[in-house]
Amino acid sequence: MIESAVHHAIGRFRKCRKCKAEPKHYQVRGRRSGEPVRFEPCPGRHRIACGCTHTAELPTLELAESAWEQTQRRTKRPAAVAA
Ligand SMILES: [Zn+2]
Repeated sequence: MIESAVHHAIGRFRKCRKCKAEPKHYQVRGRRSGEPVRFEPCPGRHRIACGCTHTAELPTLELAESAWEQTQRRTKRPAAVAA
């Protein structure tokens, strides 16, 4: 499995509200250990990560970006308490 950072223009992603860093986009290729070997081309996965949090690995950058937005909206209050 190969993970590489993809470069984007500064300001492309919303800065992390906890560590104030702009996250990076990582593209992950290849299979994880334990996954069956696939013979079709691997589509790759995308995740967005800063110093303190990261999204799940998702099939497209668009999905990873919306997951990132969700991490930034999340509050520390339990969902049951949030209005
Ligand atoms: Zn952060």
